[in-house]
Amino acid sequence: MELSERLKKLPPYLFVEIDREKRQAREAGRDIIDIGIGDPDQTPPQFVLDALSASLKEPGVHRYALDQGAPEFRNAIAEWYKTRFNVKLNPDTEILPLIGSKEGIAHIPLAFVNPGDYTLVPDPCYPPYKGGTIFAGGEPYLMPLLEANAFLPDLGAIPAAVLKKSKLIYINYPNNPTAAVADTAFYRRVVEFAAKNKLAIISDLAYSEIAYDAYKAPSMLETKDAKEVTIEFHSFSKTFNMTGWRVGWACGNAALISALGKVKSNIDSGVFTALQKTGAAALGAKTGHVEKMNKLYQERRDTLIDGLNSIGWKVPMPKATFYVWARLPKGNSSSIAFSQKLLKDADIVATPGVGFGKAGEGYIRMALTVQKERLQQAVERIKKIL
Ligand SMILES: *Cc1c(COP(=O)(O)O)cnc(C)c1O
Repeated sequence: MELSERLKKLPPYLFVEIDREKRQAREAGRDIIDIGIGDPDQTPPQFVLDALSASLKEPGVHRYALDQGAPEFRNAIAEWYKTRFNVKLNPDTEILPLIGSKEGIAHIPLAFVNPGDYTLVPDPCYPPYKGGTIFAGGEPYLMPLLEANAFLPDLGAIPAAVLKKSKLIYINYPNNPTAAVADTAFYRRVVEFAAKNKLAIISDLAYSEIAYDAYKAPSMLETKDAKEVTIEFHSFSKTFNMTGWRVGWACGNAALISALGKVKSNIDSGVFTALQKTGAAALGAKTGHVEKMNKLYQERRDTLIDGLNSIGWKVPMPKATFYVWARLPKGNSSSIAFSQKLLKDADIVATPGVGFGKAGEGYIRMALTVQKERLQQAVERIKKIL
């Protein structure tokens, strides 16, 4: 069978060679330190596991879920938003459970993008922004995230002809892969820009709770008039170490929520109700889990950054996310070549920046998802190859 045009249009997968080398290294029994993937190494907190066990015993949870989600879950999300961001949401019209936020992020272009339309996508970025756009027949217009602009897109640089045909703008702070954060002044500019150019804002807040040094990430929805133009995506994956569970939500503008719900009702049959009840329990609990988790990542962050700085590789301290986005050490220009060198000579897996987009070239992403001792070891090994 000939592949569809949409599949052929997806950006090439750049990690084929590195994946192969990683597999070979593992099979050869080498002691690999994998700081390549953004998947927490910790398990979900015990109270979340207990909540799931309890939910499983409730009658009714095993049947098809409601498309709009369990009222108990939507109410808990509304409550959490009020407490966390001081934003009021209507649980009936402004909140939609998702099978992980990736699912909703990838599906939303199907609701708004026609062939020939653009979406405005940061470069580097989380890959489903591009994939979802291409599946809907649209074309991603890449907004470079440059260090000189604190990894924020330059909205003024987008050509008028592109803007006229653009439907969505993707905004993701705290950012994967650059670990950059955005302030409320930037969000205000984005909301005004979206209103003026008739764009919907896709705000991806997957890392809102992973932050250091008392930094607290704002929500786009805190911005004046944001709810006219914004749909925001949240995930339990990073906040509660639940990547494999597949549960998240979208919230914000009721028309955007309803359109995404319409797409989804033709594709899936909702989120397992026991997971929604567990999600409600997780958001409602005051257990200090988030503080404990951030303390752990912060120790790892300090270990890695202080270590790298001490061996002469100057890397900035991230304020949020569990990523470190580092310019390649002097003398290196290809992120793929440097990743291969890390693997071959230091038994370390890290992600080449160019894999997230052209503007990611010259950088490498390291994830704080291994123990502190392993990060110390990684620094020792890197010291030998620099
Ligand atoms: C991990 C991640 C997500 C969330 O994933 P789900 O597991 O699908 O909820 C969303 N956006 C970014 C930028 C991520 O890194």
